[in-house]
Amino acid sequence: MARPRFNRILLKLSGEALMGPGQFSIDPTTVAGIAAEVKAAKDQGFELCLVIGGGNIFRGMAGAAQGMDRAQADYMGMLATVMNALAMQNALEQMGVETRVQSAIKMDQVCEPVIRRRAERHLAKGRIVIFAAGVGSPYFTTDTGAALRAAEMKCNALFKGTSVDGVYSADPKKVADARRFDSIGFDQVLAEDLKIMDAAAVALCRDNDIPIVIFNIRQPGNLAQVLAGEGIATIVHNEGV
Ligand code: UDP
Repeated sequence: MARPRFNRILLKLSGEALMGPGQFSIDPTTVAGIAAEVKAAKDQGFELCLVIGGGNIFRGMAGAAQGMDRAQADYMGMLATVMNALAMQNALEQMGVETRVQSAIKMDQVCEPVIRRRAERHLAKGRIVIFAAGVGSPYFTTDTGAALRAAEMKCNALFKGTSVDGVYSADPKKVADARRFDSIGFDQVLAEDLKIMDAAAVALCRDNDIPIVIFNIRQPGNLAQVLAGEGIATIVHNEGV
């Protein structure tokens, strides 16, 4: 299936994309590199919303596995996503790209709350809107937050940058003959439990007919290529579309 061209994109990056060569935290050089790619995408004329995870700093599940209260740990995870959002905002603005951070957990001194109509205005003025703190509730992930924001901002597609170049029939890091799909239906992803995003996020995209494009963000220049409908990626979509 030829990949269609989209105008308004939600770009979801896992927190790990900001980590660089380390195993933890935020590497300013890596953030600057990704920011440059995001700026290039913006310069191509796309309207961009951004969601960044928090896994490079804290994941609620990891806290819960060590005996913490899950909800408490999840709130810490959400705060981690705000730190990542601020790091990306800083990098983009240093490159002259106007941005606004909107958080699902209110923190007025730091950023705006999520207000859809205001976010629309920001996009109309050519700003990038970075949505932080997921959906604002524990027991969710930033994948679901990304799907939710993509739906309410009427994005044409959700682009998920990962460390692999698409959706495979099995984990390509473990199974040598795993097959990569160019395109695949939402229902197959859910039925076969292919781990591209959590099921809630996939279902939300399916129900709102928002294609998901999975691509490798670690390969320099790849974001601009896949946004242009080129390069290696998998598009997840409603069958027959
Ligand atoms: N989180 C949450 N609710 C949300 C989004 C995130 O509780 O709506 C918490 C959860 O603990 C999660 C952490 O924030 O583990 C970081 O987000 P995520 O794991 O999605 O980050 P990523 O894997 O994309 O880096």
